[in-house]
Amino acid sequence: MFLKSIAPDPIPVIKADAYGHGLAPVSRTLARAGASCFAVGTVDEAVALRQVPFGGEIISLLGPVTKEDYKKIVLYGITPFIYTWEQMACLAKAAEAAEYIKNNNSNRQISIALKFDTGMARLGFTEDDVPKLIHKLGSMPHVRVKMVCSHLATADDPEAREFVLTQGKKFDAICLSLRKGGMTFARVLVNSAGILAYPELHFDGQRPGISLYGSNPFWGTRWEAKGQGLLPAMEVMAPILSIHELARGQTISYGQTFTAPRDMQVAIVACGYADNYSRSLSNKGWMLVHGKRAPVIGRVCMQLTAIDITHIPQTRPGDQAYVLGGQGKERILPEELARWWGTITYEVFCLLGQNPREYENVH
Ligand SMILES: *Cc1c(COP(=O)(O)O)cnc(C)c1O
Repeated sequence: MFLKSIAPDPIPVIKADAYGHGLAPVSRTLARAGASCFAVGTVDEAVALRQVPFGGEIISLLGPVTKEDYKKIVLYGITPFIYTWEQMACLAKAAEAAEYIKNNNSNRQISIALKFDTGMARLGFTEDDVPKLIHKLGSMPHVRVKMVCSHLATADDPEAREFVLTQGKKFDAICLSLRKGGMTFARVLVNSAGILAYPELHFDGQRPGISLYGSNPFWGTRWEAKGQGLLPAMEVMAPILSIHELARGQTISYGQTFTAPRDMQVAIVACGYADNYSRSLSNKGWMLVHGKRAPVIGRVCMQLTAIDITHIPQTRPGDQAYVLGGQGKERILPEELARWWGTITYEVFCLLGQNPREYENVH
């Protein structure tokens, strides 16, 4: 609701199983909140969303990769990102084939979103491609450009404002040229950070991703307040299997990377790198037990991790340890977990979300 108040025309991004939160429950919840268009990653994700079912517009951000993808785009009415000449050629063929199937029903069109590179240097046509694009599309009556898009590389970095604005200007110029060429479409540029920090770049639609799941793209920067009020949707917990003493001088776990500086109580938690609790959290991460922080000690193992619970004496086997979230002031924020892990909240959600899930307040 907070996002809706600042992103007037949001296209929620629910790629990669809704950043690990689950395609079906997330899309249903957002559709109930008014979303009529979603962005997923692969064409297969788009097909899965159609089968949820979802009857609105579905954008595939990765666009068609295989021959099968073109058939699925036509069959399921998906709007793919298109960013190479090869895709344009295949699309023209697919449109002809679709036309043939539909007995020359020339009203049906394949919707596409043209993707432009304005600074990310990953995928996309460039400004120089515009004249040829206008020409090509002029000969493709069964293809309709619904959207023109680009992606910001540095919107979450307050120190990179100039680069964002440069991308914005390039994008604007591209859209103007296309419009002069007679095309009509919605202009969509910004991601979550762009939505929160650059209202002047909102254009006709916005693509919020990480902010939907409650992570603040500006956490730890001087723009942190711009993302305040976002509440993380995901919590992750694992049961404590056993508790024992670790005497001063004793080591724990593989490689003896931790030596007890004093007599300690340790809890062994049933999660490890096989559950996507990264091994890079060895001697770095923290969990939450009975509302208190407990540090990871020693190496994270495949399905087990040890934590120091000396200061949480009420802990018993069977209690839950929160890896992410939990109650109270010391609850574990996704941004903190990401920092200990040496990554970003996107990866934390995508990976931890692959574990068995339960939903609350979702229909
Ligand atoms: C993932 C993605 C987004 C969403 O970005 P967030 O930073 O998660 O808001 C928007 N646009 C494209 C093209 C993406 O791939």
